[in-house]
Amino acid sequence: MKKITLSFDNGPDPETTPLVLDILARHGIKSTFFVVGDKLRDPERHALCQRAQAEGHWIGNHTFNHLVPLGLSKHVGASTFEIGRTQELMGDLAGDKKLFRPFGGGGHINTSLLDREALEFLQDGQYTCVLWNVVPRDWETPDNWHQTAMQMCADVDWPLVVVHDLTTGAMKRLDEFIEMAEAAGMTFVQEFSPDCLPIVDGNLRRDVSGIVAS
Ligand SMILES: [Zn+2]
Repeated sequence: MKKITLSFDNGPDPETTPLVLDILARHGIKSTFFVVGDKLRDPERHALCQRAQAEGHWIGNHTFNHLVPLGLSKHVGASTFEIGRTQELMGDLAGDKKLFRPFGGGGHINTSLLDREALEFLQDGQYTCVLWNVVPRDWETPDNWHQTAMQMCADVDWPLVVVHDLTTGAMKRLDEFIEMAEAAGMTFVQEFSPDCLPIVDGNLRRDVSGIVAS
């Protein structure tokens, strides 16, 4: 059985997140929503996260501003703010594990993901850092990202797919993607492939020099 994990970044969005939740519920799939802190200040969006949580999904931290990858930030205190402020706004939305996904500026895994300050903050706060291995760039090709994603999933043992619950229209293809993946023998799980977790509960699981700016 080949496992596959879905994650939704950059929301919550009043129009698209409910659509995604409906589709996931219909398929009985649990996932994770990595949310942008600034958006949680809006009560309507915050309530969408509560709905997601109530339906069994995990809510993760995806920075506050989502403007500059933390490894490229030049300001002392920026990473602490980006992660810490978002976690405060999440409050009870964060479950047992404190999940953090860095902003990859288009899905790239390199030393722009974190700076030293972010790394220390994640270790001290016992965060789990969740990367990815399939980014079908749904924002660029909202009508056929699902086909790209299927090809990319074929190349990895346990795909951890990043798509976005934004108003690009891409999530209209989510249902189709799920059906294609299931038809190809994949089973949707909520857990993450260990390969995508360089930091678990604040502990380094591998050399992180490739994701931290020096
Ligand atoms: Zn993002």
